[in-house]
Parts: sequence; structure tokens; C-alpha cells
Amino acid sequence: MANVTEFFGSMVFDDKKMQECLPRATYKTLKKTVKNGEPLDISVANAVANAMKEWAVEMGCTHYTHWFQPMTGVTAEKHDSFIYPTDDGRIIMEFSGKELIKGEPDASSFPSGGIRATFEARGYTTWDPTSPAFIRDKTLYIPTAFCSYTGEVLDKKTPLLRSMERLSSVAVQLLHLLGKTDVTRVTTTVGPEQEYFLIDKKMYDKRPDLIYTGRTLFGSPAPKGQELEDHYFGSIKTRVSAFMNDLDEELWKLGVFAKTKHNEVAPSQHELAPIFETSNIATDHNELTMEVMKKVAERHGLVCLLHEKPFAGVNGSGKHNNWSISTNTGENLLEPGKQPENNLQFQLFLSAVVKAVHEYQDLLRLTVASAGNDHRLGANEAPPAIISMYLGDDLGDLVNAIVNGTHYKGKDKAEMLTGVDVLPDFKKDTSDRNRTSPFAFTGNKFEFRALGSSLNIACPNYMLNTMVAQELSEFYDELKNASDLETALKDLIRKTLTEHRNIIFNGDNYSEEWVDEAKKRGLCNYRSLPEAMSHYVDKKNIDLFVNNGIVTEAELRARYEIELEHYAKQIRIEALTMIDMAEKNITPAVSAFVNELTNTALAKKSLSESVSVYTELSLVEYLSEKLESFVKKTAELEEAVNEASQYRFDSLILAKYYREKVFTLMGELRTLGDAMEKKTSAKYWPYPSYGELLFGV
Ligand code: ADP
Ligand code: MG
Repeated sequence: MANVTEFFGSMVFDDKKMQECLPRATYKTLKKTVKNGEPLDISVANAVANAMKEWAVEMGCTHYTHWFQPMTGVTAEKHDSFIYPTDDGRIIMEFSGKELIKGEPDASSFPSGGIRATFEARGYTTWDPTSPAFIRDKTLYIPTAFCSYTGEVLDKKTPLLRSMERLSSVAVQLLHLLGKTDVTRVTTTVGPEQEYFLIDKKMYDKRPDLIYTGRTLFGSPAPKGQELEDHYFGSIKTRVSAFMNDLDEELWKLGVFAKTKHNEVAPSQHELAPIFETSNIATDHNELTMEVMKKVAERHGLVCLLHEKPFAGVNGSGKHNNWSISTNTGENLLEPGKQPENNLQFQLFLSAVVKAVHEYQDLLRLTVASAGNDHRLGANEAPPAIISMYLGDDLGDLVNAIVNGTHYKGKDKAEMLTGVDVLPDFKKDTSDRNRTSPFAFTGNKFEFRALGSSLNIACPNYMLNTMVAQELSEFYDELKNASDLETALKDLIRKTLTEHRNIIFNGDNYSEEWVDEAKKRGLCNYRSLPEAMSHYVDKKNIDLFVNNGIVTEAELRARYEIELEHYAKQIRIEALTMIDMAEKNITPAVSAFVNELTNTALAKKSLSESVSVYTELSLVEYLSEKLESFVKKTAELEEAVNEASQYRFDSLILAKYYREKVFTLMGELRTLGDAMEKKTSAKYWPYPSYGELLFGV
């Protein structure tokens, strides 16, 4: 491997390359238009497009693609070659400013939530100059936003960009009021920690459930799971390590700051954490990371599973969204500093986040809701479905002091004495970690931990940005005419924390007591996607997005429809896959095994009446009974899926039906299937076992 510092970002058309390739004046105009969000002059676009193409062709590219994030949950791309015919029947490589700025993929086959009819097919992708273009597979990838012909937003990037703008403008206003007039821009930053599973491709290929749904729908537990806690941070196996090294190299070439990697709790589970970037680039890079993980895994004969719950009985995968706000002058606005008790600016921003999370806890809950994540939240392996905040003892004490008007004495960082002379002593953090909290303060940022592993982080982040922007703008309105700013600030902070401290909880989020306590506090506890999603279009939430200019009411309603439809479709696919596996393979396999047992018993008896057929008989009886229930349950599930069509006119009712009826039957069918797997000869069982899947790499 060459020197990392040399090849880092080699596949990215970054700012440095742009500066090298473009005439100075063009470069400066581009930077200015991007910074001020002005429309791009076509001559500038032409120059940039040409420079990009020259670089890409030199790197061996033949194609370019607008890369966008429609509401499907995965990214989309349509490749065009650079070729352009000349009069003499030959070609040249061309790429115009118009092609860079605007693409026209047919939008009719992307989910639009009924916002538009299918015959209104036209859609546009527009270049996002704030996220650099990059090369993959001999193709120049251009990050873009996606909207319809009539201008409706059809993607996840546009609301994110708008929310970043909105938060910046209200935060700057507020900071100017506080005297920080040198601040001209405020940015939200994100570092997403990504969990995933790696399993052997040969095993994967034999599991239709993994192929169609990303998770196992049947599977009796292996004798060993994660109970010995020997996988977490354990020594990394050679094959996995080779994958990780390859992955790092690919990501570094693409300019992704891959930083930390380790084994996670479940067998075959791992994690990758990057260094944080702006929300927009972090989102693009996280999407890219997930895609590259899958591709690199293939090269190693592995499959990377990003599903939230690929295996029952062991932990599923999530994503921790580390989020903070900082100024263009280099200040982290969530940094408490040495004396948080005297840092009114910090207290103000902290209050805004506390108020936002309290008032819009339903939005935070529903933004992480998915069919996959329904398996995790509240299952004692991920935060509960109840959204609360952890501030730690220090800040918790500060909040109490502010609310009660008492004196706050901060804890000094204690010296950590290792008690061994050769080991250096070090300063201990003032607060411990709380792994069970969905939204934890971790020093100078918040860690939103309820995200599912496959989620596009644009959604939680635009919600977070928007709700905090809303609170900041309310704060600004309250403070802007104050005659005594300091008193007004202190009053506002005390009032806000007093009204919203109910969202703060520093205890064990996995405990039963918390569920009761949260109920008393009036916090929401939405256990599944349909329950949570029904609040998407509550008036206060529509107002939030519309008033902050993030999406229109029609667009919001469309998103709500899309999420519900997607959920119903996913469970339907899972149910159909189960039925298929049951009818085509499991039932015939068990029946064949029973047949063999029966023949063995008959043969034994014909040999001699006195030979024991206890084994065969008891197994035949057990399996025949289970198989009968299994076959009947399969038919019941099939009927339930067929009946779903009567609810198709209301997405919420349909989603609820899938959750309550279909999903429940799937669980019952699985229990029967898994019981039979335990007793059926491995020679007959048609699918690789949990042991082979989880311990096979
Ligand atoms: P911890 O060990 O508490 O999880 P780390 O410092 O290792 O914290 O950071 C975890 C993640 O948080 C990393 O992806 C890191 O880049 C990210 N992070 C750190 N500071 C910030 C910040 N100011 N804004 C957003 N993310 C951050
Ligand atoms: Mg973490």
C-alpha cells in the first residue's frame, strides 16, 4: 500500500484539484456563488464541467452519473458516457456545464407518495457543489439533489441542505445578538458510527430470506451467541481484517475519513467510525461507505449485511449519529468550556436542544422508525422507543442549579490513579458513559443512538437541524428587544430548562421503571413504525417544516405516505419469502426426514419385533405434529397477506394491519419452523444454520 497521505482523496475532485484546474477568476466566482447560494453562471459551469471531465478521463473514466438520494432508501445513479459524435464519424469526450448542473432521470418510477401522478414523469437532478464529485468504477459521480418537474422535493438531500441553511441563518442572528459579530456561518457536523455484519457469501447464497429481505426469517439459535461477550473489541480474524484494510483504502481514496474499526457485540458484527464532517458531506460519505462496504465484501467472498436485525437472539446493528454545531470562527457551540455555569452562550444552545428534543420527540422517534429498526428499539440492545436525553452528572447538576436558582459547583476532573508505577496516571472524564440513552451528551456533541444501521442519516439530521433552528429563532424573537440582555438570557434559559427538563433522564433506559416513569412524565412511547408515523402529519410538525421552509405540507404528506407504503411492502416481501421457504423447502424437508424415520422404524420392526423404535417413533410423532401446525400456519399467513389488499386505500391502516396481523403470524410460523429445525437432521434441513452463518467466517 502506498503512503496513505498521498493517496487519500485521490478519487475525489476536491477543492485543491478544482483550484489547480480552473482559471483563478472562475474558481473565485464558483466559490462565491456556492457560499452565497446564488445561481451558477453557465460560463462558470462550463469551465468546471470541462475541468472535471479532463481529470476524470485522465483517471480512466468513460462515464459520469448524477448521484442522488430518492425516497427509496438507497442511492440512485444513471450513467451517461462522455462520448460526443463529430462530423467525421468519430467521437470526442465532452461534458458541458448544462450536463453538470442538470440531469433528467425519469422520475416516474421513484416513490413520490402520490404527490404526483405516474404520467408526470419528468424529474431533475441538480448538482450539489458543496459535496465533491468522485470516481468509482471508471465513472465520475456527481452528488445531486432530486426534484420533480413541478419543483416538488423528491429526495433526502434537499431538505438536509435547506435545514443546514436555516439553522445557520438563525444561529448567526442569535450569535450577533450575543456580540459574536465575526460569525458569518454556522454548520452542523456529524460523525456516524456504522455497524454491520459480515457473513460468508456461500452461506448467504443459500438463504433466500437474506437475499430477499436482508434478515433471517427462520433460524434456530446456535449453541453459542454473544453471551460470553468475547467478540466485542475482540481480536479481529484474518479474513475480516483483510476486508477492513481493503475497505479503509477504498474509503480513503474516496476522501472518507475512516478512523476507527472494531468487532462489535454479536458474532460476525463489526463497526466503522469516521471523523466528523458537515452534515451534508457526512451523509454522502455514509451512503458511500455503506455501498463500498458491500462491494469490498464481495471481493473477499463475504456479504456485508446492513439490516437492523439480521439474526434473532443476538444484537442487531445500529448507527450512532454524533451531532454538533460549530461556527466558521472555529467555535463548537456545544462545548461547555471550563466553566459552563458562566457560559451563557453554551447554556442557551443547550437549552435549545433540550427544548427541541422535548417538543419534537415524536419526530426523532419516527425518523428512526423502519421495519428493521422495529426489532431493535425497546428490545434492550438499543435505546428504548422512548426518546429522552442524557446530560451526565455534571451538566445534570448544572441544569438543576439553574432551575432551582442554587449555586453550582462543578466537579474538577479527578486524577485517575492506575496504582501501577509504570502506567501513567491520567485525568478522568467528569461523567461516565450511558450506553442506554437514545440521545446522550458526550462532551461537546450529542450522540443520537436510535438510528438503524441502514438508515440514510439525512432524515434524522434534517429533523434535528430544523427543530433546533425553530427553537433558536424563538429564542431570538424573545431576546432581540431585551433592554438587559444578560438578565433576559438567564430568565430564558431558566424558563426553558424548567419547562423541558422532563426530557432529561440520566438513569437506565432499559429498565421497566423508566417505562412507567416516562409515562408519568408524559413522554411518548411509540413501539412500532405505524404508531410513530401517524404523528408525522400532526399540525405542530407540519408547521415546523413549513414555517422553516424545509418542505411543503404536500411534500411532508407525501413522505408520510412513502414511509408507510414502504413499511407495508417490506413486511409483505418478508411474509411471501417465509411462505416460499416454508412450502418449497422446509415442509418437504421435514416430510422427507419423517419418511426416512418411518421407513427405518418399519425396517427395524420387520427385522425383529423386539428392536426398539423409540427414537424414530418419538421424532416422527413430534415432527408430524409440528409440521401439521406449520402447514396450517403457513396457509393462515398466506390468507392474511391476501386479505391485506382490502386496506390498500389507507396507508396507515395498511401498515398497522401488516404490523398487527401479518407480522404476528410470521413470528408464530417462525417459532414452529425453528422448533422443527432443532429436531431435523442437518442432512435434510435445507438452509445453513445460525452456527454456520454467525461463526462461518
Ligand atoms: P466516543 O468515543 O465518545 O463515541 P469519539 O470522540 O470517539 O467519541 O467520537 C465518536 C464519533 O463522534 C466520531 O465519529 C467523531 O468524529 C464524532 N465527533 C466528534 N466530535 C464531533 C463533533 N463536534 N461533531 C460531530 N461529530 C463529532
Ligand atoms: Mg459512540
